[in-house]
Amino acid sequence: MEMKNFVAYMIDKGMLKPGGQCKCGGELVLKETETTKDGFRYKCSVCKNTASVRAGSLFAKSKMTLKDVVGLTHCFIPGSPVTDMPNKCGISTRTATEWFSMLHGLIKKYMEMTQKPIGGHHLTAEADEVSIGHLTKVA
Ligand SMILES: [Zn+2]
Repeated sequence: MEMKNFVAYMIDKGMLKPGGQCKCGGELVLKETETTKDGFRYKCSVCKNTASVRAGSLFAKSKMTLKDVVGLTHCFIPGSPVTDMPNKCGISTRTATEWFSMLHGLIKKYMEMTQKPIGGHHLTAEADEVSIGHLTKVA
């Protein structure tokens, strides 16, 4: 998947901050840039002010780059244990754990939004099993 499409997808799903309006009233447009590790930043078409795509999002406090996230999404196979992921993807266990805790936050957020569980109790239980540490901050 193209990085830009992936970013657009994440914005669409509420995982990243949507652009919206700049303080000056101009429109914040998603731009590719070399200056951030994600390769993307919002830029106002009027005053040229820039804003982060991850500010205020689930990724705000994450050290993962969006490229890491894409990689993980590609190698994520439903049903396979989290502990297999580092081997399969060439990432650290810590990164895998962070990814799963964010995923847990997303599931919770989604459930709160829709007022009904996705995948029933089974999925909820699985997500809880992989949760650790800073999860409460995310959720
Ligand atoms: Zn502006």
